[in-house]
Amino acid sequence: MDAEAAGRDAAPSVLWRMPPGRDWLHCPLCGTGLSERHLDGGPRRACPACGFVYWEHPWPAAGAVVADPAGRVLCVRRRFDPQAGNWCLPGGLADPGESAQQTACREVREETGVVIELEDLLGVFASYIVAFAARAEAQEPVAGHDVLAAAWFEPRSLPELCFPSHREALALWLARRRPDASVG
Ligand SMILES: [Zn+2]
Repeated sequence: MDAEAAGRDAAPSVLWRMPPGRDWLHCPLCGTGLSERHLDGGPRRACPACGFVYWEHPWPAAGAVVADPAGRVLCVRRRFDPQAGNWCLPGGLADPGESAQQTACREVREETGVVIELEDLLGVFASYIVAFAARAEAQEPVAGHDVLAAAWFEPRSLPELCFPSHREALALWLARRRPDASVG
């Protein structure tokens, strides 16, 4: 792999997430060393020089339990941490201005190439992870740049999902389908 190709591969893993503010050493506004202040019931990283305070907030994300006409479920194997190498549902962080529905559709398409139709909301899990039920036409998934693999799985042979919220969403989806499954 040439250096340029290596750089293209390396960049997303570095830029994937800004380190949480609790790990910052210096004020992002003025460069002074941060210290800890007790504010609104908890310790916060704060700047003694300019008054900057880092308020930690969740990163909203959305994804979907996507089923094809045969009832198989779409999963992806993560390329980047957290949980690199492990399987989860397709989904990801919201872009500014997106609805949760738009995030879910865009992320599934980016990670798997599969175009989905949302059916309904499965739930909103900690911390602001929104999961939908969705369906798609039968099509071969194509792994996007941020996943190692994308594949359909029979519900009985699904891989272990690495995030608790994804396991919860999948369990809800499976419980809803059980009446249908017993008919077939
Ligand atoms: Zn400062």
